[in-house]
Amino acid sequence: TTLQKVKLEGGGIISSLSQSDHHKLTRTLQIEKRLIEALNHNDFHVMYLPQRNVATGKVTSVEALVRWKDEVLGVIHPDELIPIAEETGLINDIGTFMLEKACQQAAIWKQKGLGIKVSYNSSIREFRDKNMVKTVRSVLKKYNCPSDLIQIEFTEKFALEAEAEKKIIQQMQTLHQEGITFALDDFGTGYASLRYLQLLPIGKLKIDKSFVSSIMQQKKLQQLIQGLIHFGQSLDVIVVAEGVETKDQFNLLSEMGCDAVQGYFISEPITAEEVERLIMLNEV
Ligand code: C2E
Ligand code: MG
Ligand code: MG
Ligand code: MG
Repeated sequence: TTLQKVKLEGGGIISSLSQSDHHKLTRTLQIEKRLIEALNHNDFHVMYLPQRNVATGKVTSVEALVRWKDEVLGVIHPDELIPIAEETGLINDIGTFMLEKACQQAAIWKQKGLGIKVSYNSSIREFRDKNMVKTVRSVLKKYNCPSDLIQIEFTEKFALEAEAEKKIIQQMQTLHQEGITFALDDFGTGYASLRYLQLLPIGKLKIDKSFVSSIMQQKKLQQLIQGLIHFGQSLDVIVVAEGVETKDQFNLLSEMGCDAVQGYFISEPITAEEVERLIMLNEV
């Protein structure tokens, strides 16, 4: 861990750091320490970001997002938490926690007669664990959750690294054969490559919100996204737009034939109960 590294390398390293690096390091160490506590006490909760199917108007899947409010440090946003967790390896425990929550919640909704697919974000380190497949199987079984209700999201950075690691691709393929689906997240921000689509079992492409936020102003971007939607259709890959905030964006994306959208125009991340209410409202 970072803490151990600093201890091993001694105080010399700290005194040679600039003040801002020093602040950053102190903050990282604090978060790391509290994170270990939080993991021991299951001190996280989960919010769900609804995804609306454009053709039916229905919410049939949600993305589970981790939320952490530490009693000492206050709210730590995922953008700060995840890189630290990835660096220290604690991301594997967060991943398992999210997997548990996703399966538990999907199973609860299934029992209530709501077939809602739950996706969660994963980091490549989780797939470097050779027991990943076993873990997923046992958690699905524990909650009696059908595998087709679970989707795992990963980024292009993950895909780029996974390419060189057979074991990771194998684990993804195995899970895919067993009914789990995969989504390529933040599409377009990394190293988008045709190879991933060939190599990895990708069922969904999620267009990053940075593109959606400028779609109204940029004709060229509109054409690119239109092309991407056609591309997805011909490959049987679902195309989802992230970060849809306005009615204009929503209308344009639906005209283009985008399969699904998520973002504040549909809903911000909400609790499981609120997801149920949203679906009930939709149905009347
Ligand atoms: P992401 O997977 O792309 O998740 C979408 C993020 O966009 C979420 O931020 C969500 O709250 C935010 N968002 C949703 N709709 C809108 C919108 O209309 N406008 C804008 N501006 N933002 C919107 P959040 O929850 O802060 O998560 C940030 C990132 O942190 C996620 O991006 C994901 O990469 C990562 N993350 C979150 N939870 C987890 C987790 O449990 N495990 C891992 N490995 N990563 C996670
Ligand atoms: Mg995501
Ligand atoms: Mg994303
Ligand atoms: Mg993101």
